[in-house]
Amino acid sequence: LETNLDIKDEYDNQEIHVHNARIHNLKNVSVSILKNSIILITGVSGSGKSSLAFDTIFTESQKQFMDLVLSNQMLNNTFSDVYVDKITGLQPSIAIEQRNLGVNPRSTVGSVTKIADVFKLLFATIGKRVCPWCHQVVDDSNVCKDCGAILFDRTPQVFSYNHPDYMCPLCKGLGVEMRIDEEKIVEHPEKSLLDGASSLYGDLRKHRKKPNANWMRGEILALADDMNVDLELPFYRLPKEFKQQFFYGSNGREVSLAYENSKGRSGVIRRPVEGAINLIQRLAHDTKATRSTDQVHQFMSKKTCSCCQGERLLEEGRLVNIQGYRYPEVVSLSIDKLRKWCHRIYEQLIKEQQDKTRMIFIKLNQRLKKIQSVGLGYITLNRSVPSLSGGEAQRLKLATQFGTGLSNILYIMDEPSKGLHPKDYRFLMDAIVDLKKYGNTVILVEHKKSFLTIADMHLHMGPKAGRYGGELVFVHHRKEIENQLISQDCSDDFDTIKVIDSVSLDNNKAIKDTYIQLKGVTTNNLKNIDVAIPIGMMTAVIGVSGSGKSTLISKTLYPYIMSSLGRTVEEKGTFQKVIGIESFEDVCYVNQKAIGSNSRSNPGTYTGVFDLIRQCYADTQQAKKKNLSKEYFSFNSKKGQCPECSGLGEVAVNMHYMDNLYVPCNKCHGKRYSKEVLKITRKDCSIGDILDIEIHDLLEVFQEEKEIVRQLSMLNKVGLGYLKLGQSASTLSGGEAQRIKLAKELNKNECKNILYILDEPTTGLHEEDVEKVIDVLKELKEKGATIIIIEHNLKMIKKCDYIVELGPGGVQGGHILQAGFQKREGDFI
Ligand code: ADP
Ligand code: ADP
Ligand code: ZN
Ligand code: ZN
Repeated sequence: LETNLDIKDEYDNQEIHVHNARIHNLKNVSVSILKNSIILITGVSGSGKSSLAFDTIFTESQKQFMDLVLSNQMLNNTFSDVYVDKITGLQPSIAIEQRNLGVNPRSTVGSVTKIADVFKLLFATIGKRVCPWCHQVVDDSNVCKDCGAILFDRTPQVFSYNHPDYMCPLCKGLGVEMRIDEEKIVEHPEKSLLDGASSLYGDLRKHRKKPNANWMRGEILALADDMNVDLELPFYRLPKEFKQQFFYGSNGREVSLAYENSKGRSGVIRRPVEGAINLIQRLAHDTKATRSTDQVHQFMSKKTCSCCQGERLLEEGRLVNIQGYRYPEVVSLSIDKLRKWCHRIYEQLIKEQQDKTRMIFIKLNQRLKKIQSVGLGYITLNRSVPSLSGGEAQRLKLATQFGTGLSNILYIMDEPSKGLHPKDYRFLMDAIVDLKKYGNTVILVEHKKSFLTIADMHLHMGPKAGRYGGELVFVHHRKEIENQLISQDCSDDFDTIKVIDSVSLDNNKAIKDTYIQLKGVTTNNLKNIDVAIPIGMMTAVIGVSGSGKSTLISKTLYPYIMSSLGRTVEEKGTFQKVIGIESFEDVCYVNQKAIGSNSRSNPGTYTGVFDLIRQCYADTQQAKKKNLSKEYFSFNSKKGQCPECSGLGEVAVNMHYMDNLYVPCNKCHGKRYSKEVLKITRKDCSIGDILDIEIHDLLEVFQEEKEIVRQLSMLNKVGLGYLKLGQSASTLSGGEAQRIKLAKELNKNECKNILYILDEPTTGLHEEDVEKVIDVLKELKEKGATIIIIEHNLKMIKKCDYIVELGPGGVQGGHILQAGFQKREGDFI
């Protein structure tokens, strides 16, 4: 007899069934997903796409897998009981999230693709060793015949710059060292030292008028007197010998130094000149001076390591060669060249060596080909991963994580199109279709309509965000998708973007005060380009991935403006000059970097609005009566927080081999504060409730508080009304973090004379949300701001006044394809 308690045979070859998912805002979502197909999930941000794809399906798959592997019941607090009734038919899953490949400067294209390991093996197998002392070739034994030196064993590690025994001892395998940079000491060689050519010494004219006990400045004046040098001259015109001593000191020769102490007493002493570089070095070693580190860093820049010439290895490893090619040389060839190199070298080997290395060469060829197939043939293996552009990193991920040859895997991807121009989608779509061909299932959380062309299923979440979302609005299969494709224009067509006329920089006088002008830019792949960007306008910088957009804006213009505002920058671009930036009082750079990995930071604390809210609670009669100051209303302060969870509202349960699972604190029930603090309420809400209410609903609670409403409205305007003020910053997506930064900046009242630079502000946004961000930016512009956006979203680009298009991608790229005001329909020209 079959009862309701008997479980039916639930194995299903065809579909994955999700029953009643309810994590976050999901409202008991049930859906059947076709296996061996491509599933597109869309919806406004905050509608629940990631909650379904990652937090439900992926997490449950991980859990079922762990249950299988860990036979004992370690996982008694089971996820599925709480957040979903059951999921059947699951496949092992791999999540491909937006998280970057890494910011570790040690990771290179060669190391993340593992291709470097194969080359190391090749060099260890057939490489010729050369003695670093007498430079003679050493045969198979470890002793150099000519000088008797004992060499390392021939192992792949010899080529590893991460290995303490084989890395360059000076740069520790990084290839660069921080060195004091003359150019940073004299940042404005076109000015005189008296007028502040050097940021180290500042304005010496003032000092000359009124000498004080500042030896450092006095020394330079004394040196000039001693050498009879006219300090009114611009720095670059000063005699070479003076410049030498200015930087490196007078080598013991004494000069006469006039001084006046704070009591007004003056005198002259004789002493040698220390010199700028020695001075900075002394500060750097003076560990007692707290100010030193920052100040010293300001005058240093990264330079190629002087010991290994940037090759990162000990000389012994650097000298091993195959037919005259050394390992560091080989990893600095482009992938395209490298593949040809492999073919050529293999052909030239003798039979015995060919036999030894055939498998190695086959592997190399396969992997290099894979990288070429995603269009990255121009990249080198020694390129550091953090220096790749977003789109390049994305494609590298495709080439490495996708090409495993596994089948029956469920791949779940978070906005794989991020950072890519529609022209780059081809690589991505091909790779995804390949995955399906090999028998895998692919779930894509994506906003780009183009992806409908490869989708077998389309799930749309909504209808809105947060608690107004969390439902499946529709599920389309291939037939309905095809109808949709016919009825709508689903191409993200960039060819329609045209400019009226390219502005000629040379023949146009009017351009002088109204444009930022960059001349002769050659940073990275840029081909000596001249660019003008109108002040007070909204400019879109567009182009395929790797064309040089970030190089131009984030790595050239931004650091230049920062340094001209007197702030420190790590790297600067290379260019002839930049003009027209005098009017900017500030520059604000908004990118997608997380706003804090700290679980104590959240949208409320980050924007500062929670500060106002705490004050508001402290100002209530109840709080005053109990002497509860503002500090009590901070969950980070010991005074008011729940002692059990230290104000986090949740406690971690150790899940051993997985990430910790968080469950609500059983003392405060997730409210974060002590009982006493929670008793203070406004409109029936305690401060703990406030952190758990979505932003759009808070507007009502604080109706009468003008400033709080203003700040909350801004978060609402950029499409984040669905967030809770207390949601931990570490759980926010890149796009959300970016819009929080944007809202924070926009809340500053003054935006005239400020340059805003935004790196793909539409990431993670659905069409509707894009409109909201556009409105906010327009408002900014009306208030007098200048806005530059690096962007791939057609809708956003169309709203910009001015376009700078770069292309093509890679080393051949870095040209300006077009630049000028955007041509609108109906324009006469
Ligand atoms: P989408 O992927 O469609 O942008 P999400 O699934 O990320 O949406 O979010 C759906 C809702 O769940 C939103 O209201 C969001 O604020 C909330 N949410 C997402 N992640 C968390 C989390 N870790 N903790 C609490 N709420 C969350
Ligand atoms: P985009 O922002 O248009 O995607 P980028 O400006 O990031 O492109 O990159 C432009 C070109 O410069 C690419 O070919 C990229 O590989 C190269 N590049 C970027 N950063 C570096 C670097 N640190 N070292 C060498 N090449 C770089
Ligand atoms: Zn070195
Ligand atoms: Zn607690």
